[in-house]
Amino acid sequence: MEQAKVQTCTRCILDSTVADIWFDEKGVCKYCHIHDEMEKIFPEGEESQKKLLKIVEEIKKKGKGKKYDCIAGLSGGRDSTFVLFKAVELGLRPLAVHFDYGWNSDISVSNIKNACEKLNVDLHTVVADWEEFKDLQVAFLKSGTPDADIPADYAIYSILYNTAYKEGIKYILNGHSFRTEGTSPISWTYMDSRYLKAVHKKFGKIKKIKSFSIMSLSKLIYYMFFKRIREIRLIEYVEYIKDDVDVLLSEKVNWKYYSGHHHENNYTKFFQSFYLPQHFGFDKRKTELSALIRSKQITRDEAIKEIQNTEYPYDEKVVDYVINKLGLTEVDFDKIMKAKPKSFNDYPTYLPLIRALKFPIKIAVKLHIIPHILYLKYAK
Ligand SMILES: [Zn+2]
Repeated sequence: MEQAKVQTCTRCILDSTVADIWFDEKGVCKYCHIHDEMEKIFPEGEESQKKLLKIVEEIKKKGKGKKYDCIAGLSGGRDSTFVLFKAVELGLRPLAVHFDYGWNSDISVSNIKNACEKLNVDLHTVVADWEEFKDLQVAFLKSGTPDADIPADYAIYSILYNTAYKEGIKYILNGHSFRTEGTSPISWTYMDSRYLKAVHKKFGKIKKIKSFSIMSLSKLIYYMFFKRIREIRLIEYVEYIKDDVDVLLSEKVNWKYYSGHHHENNYTKFFQSFYLPQHFGFDKRKTELSALIRSKQITRDEAIKEIQNTEYPYDEKVVDYVINKLGLTEVDFDKIMKAKPKSFNDYPTYLPLIRALKFPIKIAVKLHIIPHILYLKYAK
């Protein structure tokens, strides 16, 4: 049988194995187009510096008289540590928020401690009940979708909004950078509360999660539209060169690198280096390298060379550690790995609703109520 030909983007290294990708007449992919639109929103140079200072002023003004004027999630990884550093450098008074769901590596724990101490920032840590979190993670592995890491992502997102609301803080600093991290394809990562709850209901054993919240859509709408809590992608406004940031953070806050994108956490390490590539054939290095190509931090040839014929390296010990910690038997895990891959389309989600509401969403984006990426990635 003839194998279907794989088309690779002429600009980055994403290819037609990404289910939701499309290419224009020049062979440039959807995610390069998203990058270009983000470039227009967050242009580099003087204009972006001006925009940033305006935002900083606004945050300071709204936070006057309060203990904190913004909130920043802190995982101990490069992006979140850099956001915290930058916030303090800009004269903001952030509250750092960490979600401990049982998978921190020693490096991330010391990175968090060092950053908060050196920057003189208060840290609020939410600790998940391990049995609850495990139940949610195992449910997602059993769902057969590539979204097995979203319980943590969505929980953090929920905790940031809830804490901002409780503390009367209007700004959440987001550590995402489209220039270095890229935009993960929807078919590789999708999350919303309806999806999360549906998967947990179907495959979980515990009925209700109590130790942390999974923010509902109505609550998110309440926070965004009525409480006017805004997410600011702080590092989109500043120059962000990965290698330089590493040097800066190590000098200023004694930060240490943990090798591998988002490998500050053992579950993420398992998820990105083993589960995604082995079960779905998804290689997250492609999205990160593609982002670096688009932002001219590496060339396309260098990226191809780095990835060609090399499987994502993984550590057998980490895989065993994860299986054991989740309480899975070898038979259970084998079943998970051999099951037919599924996607979020197999479960209830809010995506149809988001797509139906794309015009109101576009307006809300224009009014800076909700982040641009929601429209670009999901609604468009
Ligand atoms: Zn591309």
